[in-house]
Amino acid sequence: MLATYGYKDGSGEYLITIDTERCNGCGDCVAACPAHVFVVVDEDPNDPMREEPVAMVALEKKKKLKYECNPCKPTVDRAPLPCVEACKASAISHSW
Ligand code: SF4
Ligand code: SF4
Repeated sequence: MLATYGYKDGSGEYLITIDTERCNGCGDCVAACPAHVFVVVDEDPNDPMREEPVAMVALEKKKKLKYECNPCKPTVDRAPLPCVEACKASAISHSW
């Protein structure tokens, strides 16, 4: 399942998508994100049948991604985002 967090406003799109089929709950994204955007939870509220841990965007961060992710905003060199790069399962995508 694709779980999308964030929003769009007049200044752009601030969306993070986690492919929960790919996510194995390893927690590497939690360690990699300087803004502590991710958490790993034991039960997926979107999929009660799931028995493995899964990454989510922390509730208190959902409405603030524009600001939380600002330090990682791509510049001319388009460096990979730490969260996307850290996820070996390729479960994370960002609208940037
Ligand atoms: S790094 Fe990827 S696989 Fe690991 S918990 Fe985060 S989203 Fe899931
Ligand atoms: S873009 Fe940066 S701040 Fe935003 S979730 Fe990814 S690692 Fe964290």
